[in-house]
Amino acid sequence: LKVEFSVIRRETGFVTGLVAVLTDVTEQEKTDQERRDFVSNVSHELRTPLTSIKSYSEALADGAWQDPNIAPQFLEVIQSESNRMIRMIANLLDLSKMDGGQLQTNLEYIDFKRIVHHILDRFDFTLASGDVPKKYTIKRELTTRDIYVEIDQDRMTQVIDNLMNNAIKYSPDGGLVTVRLIDTQNSVILSVTDQGLGIPQKDLPHLFERFYRVDKARSREQGGTGLGLAISKEVIEMHGGRIWVDSIEGKGSTFSFELPFTVFDLDDEGWDDFE
Ligand code: ADP
Repeated sequence: LKVEFSVIRRETGFVTGLVAVLTDVTEQEKTDQERRDFVSNVSHELRTPLTSIKSYSEALADGAWQDPNIAPQFLEVIQSESNRMIRMIANLLDLSKMDGGQLQTNLEYIDFKRIVHHILDRFDFTLASGDVPKKYTIKRELTTRDIYVEIDQDRMTQVIDNLMNNAIKYSPDGGLVTVRLIDTQNSVILSVTDQGLGIPQKDLPHLFERFYRVDKARSREQGGTGLGLAISKEVIEMHGGRIWVDSIEGKGSTFSFELPFTVFDLDDEGWDDFE
């Protein structure tokens, strides 16, 4: 809050009044501060993988390339850190498009249940192919009704992938991930429940902020960018929905989102008029 005072005087110089103007500058300052924090976060986040790439490549150049045990490991670090940077930059570009309202959306009426099955089939398939760092079991509890929702299929897939990957990433090997899809009169709710680490109460309000992580080291180790949930929130809000988390530390977490949904009713189409 900014306060400005002006003094009202008579010609004789006597002060006869005081005017106070109160201006609410908090919003403006908050956005300025957020922008400064964001730029400093981005710089820091990009410098971290770059520093590893630099030091591992220097070590290789200094002779480690000749050691057949060490060289492949160092190259792998360089590759995974470069990939993480590429993912981070792609995520940042997405977020900046969303901020500027320039993200193209391709909205279509699609049976949401079918998309969820499709994504979970892919996770099951990857597991069966054995090409996974961690095992998991997926339990599906999906409504049997067809639910047609107007969505951008690619963006929605990105959100569900992200919640699924997190559920697996932040759980012990072999964890159970339960996916529920329920429909109410005017919304559909998808939730992903894991039996993993859980999230401390104090971190819950910040989880959807850009670059916020409960455990930075663990997130990086798993190749995380710290932007997945921030993007998911933007995408869900773009669809007129909301996203939230319930969690108990040490027990597990449930990430849910809700999208508006209207049951198509023939009466709404004006058929009554023909009676
Ligand atoms: P990251 O790339 O770090 O996974 P996200 O934006 O997807 O970034 O998630 C932000 C943070 O939220 C993670 O670093 C992690 O601390 C926490 N988190 C997300 N999903 C889960 C989960 N299922 N269980 C426990 N912690 C989670």
